[in-house]
Amino acid sequence: MTVVGLDDTDSRERGMCTTYAAARLAERLDASARYLVRLNPAVPHKTRGNAALAVVTDVAPDQALITARDLLDAMAVTDDDRTHPGVVVAPGRPEEVPTAVADWTDRAMHELLDPAQARDVCSDHGYRTVTWGLGRGLVGALAAIGAARAWSRAEFSPTYETISYRERDRWGTGRAVDADSLFAAADEFYPRVWDTVDRETGETVAVPHTPGPVLHGIRGDDPAATRACAAAVSSEPVERRTTFTTNQGTDAHLTEGTIATAVDGRSYRVEGVVADPPETREGGHVFLEIADGDLQLACAAFEPTGRFRERVRRLRVGDRVTVCGEVSESTLKLEKFAARSLVRTEQVTPTCPDCGRRMESAGRGQGYRCRGDCDRTAPGKVARELDRRLERGWYEVPPSARRHVAKPLVRGGFDAPVHPER
Ligand code: ZN
Repeated sequence: MTVVGLDDTDSRERGMCTTYAAARLAERLDASARYLVRLNPAVPHKTRGNAALAVVTDVAPDQALITARDLLDAMAVTDDDRTHPGVVVAPGRPEEVPTAVADWTDRAMHELLDPAQARDVCSDHGYRTVTWGLGRGLVGALAAIGAARAWSRAEFSPTYETISYRERDRWGTGRAVDADSLFAAADEFYPRVWDTVDRETGETVAVPHTPGPVLHGIRGDDPAATRACAAAVSSEPVERRTTFTTNQGTDAHLTEGTIATAVDGRSYRVEGVVADPPETREGGHVFLEIADGDLQLACAAFEPTGRFRERVRRLRVGDRVTVCGEVSESTLKLEKFAARSLVRTEQVTPTCPDCGRRMESAGRGQGYRCRGDCDRTAPGKVARELDRRLERGWYEVPPSARRHVAKPLVRGGFDAPVHPER
């Protein structure tokens, strides 16, 4: 058996897409498995979706390498000077790659890795490689080789995506996908398929807006369901359809962190207490600060996260939360949060039980008194019940704002009640 990994064939000008190259390669190599790996979403030079692909074949390594090289050359993805494709060919079964290769896959989820180091790992294990340009694609191509083994030992189970591709002469034109049939199919297979549509905004999330070859991509827990759902959508002709095993929707990018240890370029799950209340700034972005002792971390729900911002705005100082997302420029970009405990009351100046007016301070340490003729006094502030409009548990961005690798709440396995967006 042979595993072929490839990465960084997304051409912005030509609208190429690495998954399409992999789908074509899988057909040429009569592949028995196809993996779509979403890498660290926080990496700077990433390709559009930061995807790497692997296909498994019975074709011998030397021939597989030639086939992959010829295909990428023929697809002219290598002419774009902003793409730096890489191909890695590994002999053997994908579940049995060396530990060092699976470790590379795990690191590629969390770190920014060096192509030169990828080349070293490849030569250590006798893997054949081809690169174009700067060969940055070697990092992802090697990560794709290690995916099957890395995921077999991970806490998450892989998910699936069935991608339908457009006929070549339609690339770059508007997509003809019947929205009613997409919504009907999404409902029929929910929640085994997810992030297909947004039922509140009416968006067809599975249909991309970029000029590439993808017509629609149906994601879910079960490949039979993603295939059946894709087949139930009415649309322009489908050129080819391929189902990938993926780490999408798994939260594989998150590591347990603390405010003290969180650094730029990684994604975390972090505990804290709301220290500064949510504030809506120019552009509609919502910011708040969470604290752990003396340390604080800024968190942001950006405008494209839509109605999620309303949930964030309902947080109050003193609430205990767990926040998830990528840290960049010392700010955590919220993907989801859990309200662990909510402040239920606030301390307010007492009102007079006789006349209903707000009491005033009777002087430092003297409590409060009514300025009317009632002569009522109170020893201090009183607790008032808050109308929270927020419950304990997990809240998330809507499907249209989901990062590829972020886990939708509907998939389950969370440690508190969930409030899924659908
Ligand atoms: Zn009064």
